[in-house]
Amino acid sequence: QKPVLHADADSVAAAVASGERDEPLPDAIRFDAYRAAGGYRLWQAVRSGEIAGDTVIAALDAAGLRGLGGAGFPAARKWRTVAAQPAPRLMAVNIDEGEPGTFKDRHYLETDPHRFIEGMLIATHVVGIDGIWIYIRDEYPALRRLLAGELDRVRAAWPDLSPIELRRGAGAYVCGEESAMIESIEGKRGMPRLRPPYVAEVGLFGRPTLEHNLETLWWVRDIVAPALAGGPDPFASRGRNGRQGLRSFSVSGRVLRPGVVVTDAGITLRELVDEHCGGMLPGHELYGYFPGGASGGMLPARLADVPLDFDTLGAYGCFIGSAAIVVFSQFDRARVLAENAMEFFAHESCGQCTPCRVGTAKAAELMKQPTWDAALLTELGTLMMDASICGLGQAAPNPMQSVLRFFPHEVGVAGENEEGAA
Ligand code: SF4
Repeated sequence: QKPVLHADADSVAAAVASGERDEPLPDAIRFDAYRAAGGYRLWQAVRSGEIAGDTVIAALDAAGLRGLGGAGFPAARKWRTVAAQPAPRLMAVNIDEGEPGTFKDRHYLETDPHRFIEGMLIATHVVGIDGIWIYIRDEYPALRRLLAGELDRVRAAWPDLSPIELRRGAGAYVCGEESAMIESIEGKRGMPRLRPPYVAEVGLFGRPTLEHNLETLWWVRDIVAPALAGGPDPFASRGRNGRQGLRSFSVSGRVLRPGVVVTDAGITLRELVDEHCGGMLPGHELYGYFPGGASGGMLPARLADVPLDFDTLGAYGCFIGSAAIVVFSQFDRARVLAENAMEFFAHESCGQCTPCRVGTAKAAELMKQPTWDAALLTELGTLMMDASICGLGQAAPNPMQSVLRFFPHEVGVAGENEEGAA
């Protein structure tokens, strides 16, 4: 019996039918207020040709904006690639936000949804997009109602917009993977595609597709407007420890004040917790942390001074992904967290390829043993990483390998890097 780590479709449907999930709409900045504060002027300038598309892309390039859903692909390069493809070109926006510990997109949508919509419309005109599909997780019912209402107001103000479709996810973690999301939007099972071809060339309904996470588009206005005004770029001028830009960290776990922290790229875990989260909970001492949700691996307390950003954690077998930071303390066991993550991946595997379908289930069983078979788990993990089709299977072994490397005393394995043996 596999554990159910999230509400299944039947229980969600029952809750909706009973009105339990009919949550009040969040107190977001609505259309009229956003426009009154100068919103949509930048988009209208782009749309009218007053501001050239190349100028917008150059500003994104200079700011170093990267895909903030987790992959970190440079946004400007993606826009140029899709714009060079034959029309019709489509766009797919990912608000599936299924990575455990990640809630930044929710934060942006429930506070300032039009900043994201304006960024999306700017992308539409710069790249030459003929239709937009927004994919939002069903676990955000109030946000879906909010977004649907605000999109109606945008359409009413500008009836000649390209079509914008809002699609509901159905709770599958793998549908956050871009090609699985596209399959799901097309009405098929959400199973990742083999690549190449990449979705920028052959994506939604077989057309070249610009695929973006909500947050990436949210930053477009804040990057482009100051750049055109000649002022300091509030995005590119930030960063520390040799990194550039702002990042939205979803911080949870044993800290005093969890939540979304928007701060410098390259901040360390220690700085993040001390400066923005009020420190650790009383009585708790840092033992380790997930730097990138369930899939980004785990780091021990002695590596709390590593800059958190894209490309900085690879030496430790980790990655930052969507910047979901889960902090754990001396009252937690890394092996328990890793087992939980592996069972989650086994549950969420789409089953399409053997290394992931069989590998996650096999690893979850092996990880229940009091003493881990390090050689066997390492071989299994390497196979999954090398031979899985998509990021789910490729990243699933990360927390397990972090335990073997940084917390070996917990699983009866000899290692050089024991942390705070209990
Ligand atoms: Fe499906 Fe896992 Fe293969 Fe991805 S790696 S395609 S989730 S079986």
